[in-house]
Amino acid sequence: MDDFKVTPWDVEGVVDYNKLIEQFGTSPLTDELIQKTAELTKSELPIFFRRRFFFSHRDYDKVLEDYESGKGFFLYTGRGPSGPMHIGHIIPFYATKWLQEKFDVNLYIQITDDEKFLFKEKLSFDDTKYWAYQNILDIIAVGFDPDKTFIFQNSEFTKIYEMALPIAKKINFSMAKAVFGFNEQSKIGMIFYPAIQAAPTFFEKKRCLIPAAIDQDPYWRLQRDFAESLGYYKTAAIHSKFVPGLTSLGGKMSASKPETAVYLTDDPEEAGKKIWKFALTGGRATAKEQREKGGEPEKCVVFKWFEIFFEPDDEKLMERYRACKAGELLCGQCKRELIERVQKFLKEHQERRKKAEKQVEKFKYTGEL
Ligand code: SF4
Repeated sequence: MDDFKVTPWDVEGVVDYNKLIEQFGTSPLTDELIQKTAELTKSELPIFFRRRFFFSHRDYDKVLEDYESGKGFFLYTGRGPSGPMHIGHIIPFYATKWLQEKFDVNLYIQITDDEKFLFKEKLSFDDTKYWAYQNILDIIAVGFDPDKTFIFQNSEFTKIYEMALPIAKKINFSMAKAVFGFNEQSKIGMIFYPAIQAAPTFFEKKRCLIPAAIDQDPYWRLQRDFAESLGYYKTAAIHSKFVPGLTSLGGKMSASKPETAVYLTDDPEEAGKKIWKFALTGGRATAKEQREKGGEPEKCVVFKWFEIFFEPDDEKLMERYRACKAGELLCGQCKRELIERVQKFLKEHQERRKKAEKQVEKFKYTGEL
């Protein structure tokens, strides 16, 4: 019995990503595929690939073949608007932006306000609509190409219902139950919802590539069961790990535990205080002991945040690791350095977010390209 659990709605325990590949039946993202990505895009790989933050895939090899042969592909990702977005939510969008820029492809971003209303007992429909708008601002602030990026909110983009119908006719209750664990208490809206989430994978008659955290994979597993019978490709996906919350290396940053997360709209000063107070380190009990024995970056959230996003320079990351192990770097200094980077990121993000208010219409998808 594994001591972790990953579903589209919940992550519990310390995730063993190798076991998850086995459990979900996905494939590891190999050196060969990473190398081929660099060759095809003629680019230096971003840290997300170099450091295997994206670690698993379905049919990414076929996506690269389609690109190479000129058939092309398109990107699709999304966001469930149940509250403010935090740093863990936005990092996969940066990877998506890199893929869009380097492969020069269309990107569809689904805002699942209907899903959050159905699955979150306490959330009203007005709440999800409010958060949809707020989250869209954060997503636009990442800097996507407005000519190739199409954002839509399920409740407004009603055409999606028509597209979901043939899908809904292909999924029976046992299939949905096997993948999502629905039971007698599940609301009927929840049971229909996977058809809505699968619909964008059919927006173009090309292969779809979904970059997302691995907890969303069950949706794509289901899509792959019926896509070809409707004349479309089985969707491809690349899966990221989770960004750990401040207080623990296991699981992911959780919006329901505010002390674990740094929100994109947090005041930078307050965010700094939160990191200072709550971030788990791999430090020793005293500075003297740490100088003697060195720290444990493997157990440290501060180091993990540098590794995932806040230290793009590989040599500098290795130097931080070495200095920590050698007892030359103490946690106070290390945390202060992380705080500076997070605050800089937040300030810049918030400036771009302000400008995004004027760009929302430009990104809105109406069903026409
Ligand atoms: Fe973590 Fe830095 Fe402390 Fe090492 S010195 S344990 S990397 S916070």
